[in-house]
Amino acid sequence: MMHRVRLLSALASGLLAVLPLASAHAADTVPRTASWTREDPSFPYRWDPCQPIPYRVNLAGTPHRNLKVLKAALADIADATGFTFTYAGTTHGVPYAKGRSGLRQVPSGGLTVAWATQRKVPALAGSVVGLGGPGPSYRRVDGEWQIDSAGVVIDKTARLTTAMVDGPSLMSLLLHELGHAMGLGHSRSKADVMYAGLGRWSRPHLGPGDRAGLRELGASTHC
Ligand SMILES: [Zn+2]
Repeated sequence: MMHRVRLLSALASGLLAVLPLASAHAADTVPRTASWTREDPSFPYRWDPCQPIPYRVNLAGTPHRNLKVLKAALADIADATGFTFTYAGTTHGVPYAKGRSGLRQVPSGGLTVAWATQRKVPALAGSVVGLGGPGPSYRRVDGEWQIDSAGVVIDKTARLTTAMVDGPSLMSLLLHELGHAMGLGHSRSKADVMYAGLGRWSRPHLGPGDRAGLRELGASTHC
């Protein structure tokens, strides 16, 4: 499974575009904790609830600041899920890279987060600025499917602020793609980072639906 995030506002001009969305006023509604979904409702996988998740990073020459934002995003996901993320160093792997399907080209076991250009990852086309999700293989353990590996790739040319501010930000994008990597699907609430698009409604922190979903997909207290 692979999800894409589109940058819906006109960043280059500094002006926010009028968005062609039917529910453009949805941000005014009260957020519902039922707004979260699974990435694949027919295939309810999650990470091993009793193991830490190692992660590798490919900054691809982008500023070190990006790693700090990634660590802040992982801290938020860890807080919401109960998982521990352990830094496993750098990698040259690029999830969803050209010429290979999905995640087969990155190291298996754990999470790989990379920055790349559209030349390397053709799916980062047009307004698509990020991709994320688990796969390609899953383990069957005690009657449930467990994620073995997941990948996130961020368009290194995307004009996203690294500041922790509202609107389209690297933090909001990373939280969204990491949410997919944890097994979350899209939320219908703009209060959630799992809403399917970055825009003026985006927040640099998890929303109530995100937290509810991540708690459900999170680590067990019984390990
Ligand atoms: Zn998405």
